Amino acid sequence: MERARCPLHPEAGLRAGFQATDRFWGIDEVVFHYGICPTCGAWVLDPRPTPEEIGPYYAGYYAPRELEARRALLARGPLSLALGADWIRAKDAARQLQRLGAPLRAGARVLDAGCGLGGFLRGLVALRGVTARGVDFDARCAAFAEEAHGVTVDVGELTGQGYPEDHFELITSWHCLEHVYDPRAELAEYARVLAPGGHLILETPTNGFIAQRLKGRGLFLQAPTHLYHLRPRTLRGLVEGAGLEVLKIRRPWLPSEIAGGLLMALGFSGFAPRLLFPPRPFKDRLWHALFMGLILCVDLPISALLALMGSTGVAQIIARKPRAGDPVKVMELGAVGR
Ligand SMILES: [Zn+2]
Repeated sequence: MERARCPLHPEAGLRAGFQATDRFWGIDEVVFHYGICPTCGAWVLDPRPTPEEIGPYYAGYYAPRELEARRALLARGPLSLALGADWIRAKDAARQLQRLGAPLRAGARVLDAGCGLGGFLRGLVALRGVTARGVDFDARCAAFAEEAHGVTVDVGELTGQGYPEDHFELITSWHCLEHVYDPRAELAEYARVLAPGGHLILETPTNGFIAQRLKGRGLFLQAPTHLYHLRPRTLRGLVEGAGLEVLKIRRPWLPSEIAGGLLMALGFSGFAPRLLFPPRPFKDRLWHALFMGLILCVDLPISALLALMGSTGVAQIIARKPRAGDPVKVMELGAVGR
């Protein structure tokens, strides 16, 4: 184990927070502790497993059953349904850039950092004909993305890839930064390889209204693989610190946090392996039915309300790398940005 600090305020230390176990994957019952940054309110896993120690907690990712389920969906089509949330993200990212007056051109060089199985890039290629590249530390991702999506994925850490400077027109980072040991170094690398005038779209879980109440039982917390849950203002400070201009901070609607949190509050453990992909044993089919019932009756309406109020469990930041000589604008920080 090693000690950790808020990546934006390392000098501030941490105040005592709350405990959490791995309820998301259900690997074991080890108790972890999240401290709270007294300056910005970020949650920081402290102490945290070293990169050598954390391996077993990633064992459940990309299980053969999940890959099988995804292949079956792709074979059945249509692509929008097979890609699900990745398709929605690809459409939304293209729309956001259009609104900012920087529409994605065909052939634009796009890098998805922490790209997982490559579904988002496949969606963006289908929608806009971009030139897609992914990077992920899990070698299973590269094999699947190539075979199922025709997308090239480099294996390893982003900072070890040696991509050329000023190269990509768009970098996306979906639920990746919370897994990264050194977010400052990660953001500095995004800024280095982004072309001047290029954009960064970064989304990560944050401690919104529901997470503040559920703490260690929150669905999005996923101890210990989530090393941080940063506040939007923390993200903004880190992104600006890397030399990028923040254009927008959003709190996108992402249902499931409430329904999953209620299940975990009832003592349910092993959410991902037991509920996310069929086939499920009979006992888990009952839990799955309860989860879907909670999604429809409780989660969808309340999470939609939280999205309107700007207090969901995710924060998204859209930033731009200034061109030489560009005046640097500083964005007003609204309620969603705090
Ligand atoms: Zn802080």
